[in-house]
Amino acid sequence: MPDLRELYQDVILDHGRQPRNFGRLERATGRAEGRNPICGDEITLYVDVQDGVVRDVRFEGHGCAISTASASLMSESVKGKREAEVLALFGRFHDAVTADASSTVDDEGLGKLAVLTGVRQFPMRVKCASLPWHTLRAALDGADAAVTTE
Ligand code: ZN
Repeated sequence: MPDLRELYQDVILDHGRQPRNFGRLERATGRAEGRNPICGDEITLYVDVQDGVVRDVRFEGHGCAISTASASLMSESVKGKREAEVLALFGRFHDAVTADASSTVDDEGLGKLAVLTGVRQFPMRVKCASLPWHTLRAALDGADAAVTTE
């Protein structure tokens, strides 16, 4: 079992302590709430989509360092992307964080998100990392939605 400290790399700690794009988005085209009852993470996510492009993303709520850092890194990664690109990125990210712990992760195209692929060693943390993405997808799908990880 790897040391938990290995998971809390500098980038994760930085984004966990000083999340980017934290706050409410007044003119959101979509909004969703996400909860991860196992850890207690709660997030409200706002998106502003214009002509199929994610113009802005903001989030508020409270959670562990992993969920906060994941939301922060996600918000930076998806701004300016088309919805289809965002969903494709979610697919790659999801595959990477749920990959078998002993496998080598394909982090191509993940950019900074690659720092989170270490969570696959810690099954309890996978939902923390993926919660912001499930919530984002819900916000893109409908004007007002709620998701709970199981
Ligand atoms: Zn968590």
